[in-house]
Amino acid sequence: MSELACEARLNLRHLPDYMDRISDRLQSFEADAEQDGQRLDFRFAFGRASFDMDRLVMRANAADRDGLARIKDLLATAVEVYARDENPEIVWTGDLADETRLAQFREMVVTHVTDLTRHMRRIRLAGEDLTRFAKFGGMHIRMLFPTKQVPDPLWPVLGSNGLPVWPSDDRRPVARVYTIRKLDVDKGFVDVDFLIHPGDSVGSAWAMQAASGMKIGIMGPVGRPVRQASWYLMGADETGLPALARLLETLPAETKGVAFVEIADDAERQPIDNATGIELHWLVRDGVPAGEDGRLADAVRSVAWPQTGSAFGWFAAEAAAAKIVREHWRGSLALGRDETLAAAYWRRGAAGLMAG
Ligand SMILES: Cc1cc2nc3c(=O)[nH]c(=O)nc-3n(C[C@H](O)[C@H](O)[C@H](O)COP(=O)(O)OP(=O)(O)OC[C@H]3O[C@@H](n4cnc5c(N)ncnc54)[C@H](O)[C@@H]3O)c2cc1C
Repeated sequence: MSELACEARLNLRHLPDYMDRISDRLQSFEADAEQDGQRLDFRFAFGRASFDMDRLVMRANAADRDGLARIKDLLATAVEVYARDENPEIVWTGDLADETRLAQFREMVVTHVTDLTRHMRRIRLAGEDLTRFAKFGGMHIRMLFPTKQVPDPLWPVLGSNGLPVWPSDDRRPVARVYTIRKLDVDKGFVDVDFLIHPGDSVGSAWAMQAASGMKIGIMGPVGRPVRQASWYLMGADETGLPALARLLETLPAETKGVAFVEIADDAERQPIDNATGIELHWLVRDGVPAGEDGRLADAVRSVAWPQTGSAFGWFAAEAAAAKIVREHWRGSLALGRDETLAAAYWRRGAAGLMAG
């Protein structure tokens, strides 16, 4: 099939003002950027994009439907985020402009429920055509849950702007972000590890009563690719553990580094097939409530950053701990954004962090 192409006019008075931030965002998804006068080009592993600031047009090109949908989504999201004040109206024309199937959405069915520990439940979800979840470098998904108020939700479809169109509130599912702990495209399943935590919730509450045959929506993959490096410093609480474990099981064998995982108590330790030379340390809260223990951030900050070779810092935990580590890496150690990622996976007292 020949290359797919489409474009959207951008009736924005201040497009050049947003371009630095749009460009930064696209580059963080591993795009190479090049500027030629009023034109900015981005090259992704799965296609190309460009912004023409004279003609006020953005273009997307890709070899296949998944790649084109991904680029349209990345461009439209960046424009919506950074040009929000001008209320941009994006309408794509060209290949697949009439498509209404949302490429990043799958309806999934629960097939297995396994308790890994007292507080961690693995749920296997079967679905069709999961190839895209192995592409684009993102490990995470937005899970779309039915709730008591909306037991039979309608799923989102694709809008003409390249972004999802959601049903009205009375049929809208509730989203939460989770990690694909394991993906098997051939067998058609994903495993997601749910932390069962206290308090009113959607994701944890759903996982507690999940049973074979139940349906759920997933969208993805989401998240930026983790940079390749020869040495990693990692830290995670139970919510970051599925991603950290997946990294330890999939990074190259010669990778070195140190990883810390914070858990409630010793019974929460779980086997990880660590394929790397990264040393894994478990830190136990022993009665301190989740999100209140400073030991994980302290442990990560106590590790000296290597002077030679490529290194990457990866951290995923409660928002306050992530902030401490981010400030240490970016502020005190003056490391770049391409060398570290310290992410808030949840916030004490706040529902649905990062799910919007
Ligand atoms: C990129 C990314 C990947 C993630 N991957 C996973 C994953 O694989 N597995 C996983 O379990 N979580 C994961 N999380 C975290 C998960 O999205 C949040 O914990 C989310 O709040 C859970 O939704 P909920 O409906 O259960 O609780 P919410 O309705 O969001 O929150 C209800 C209440 O519970 C509290 N709460 C939320 N999380 C916790 C917690 N961990 N401990 C104690 N109290 C909590 C909230 O502060 C709030 O008061 C991930 C988050 C991100 C951003």
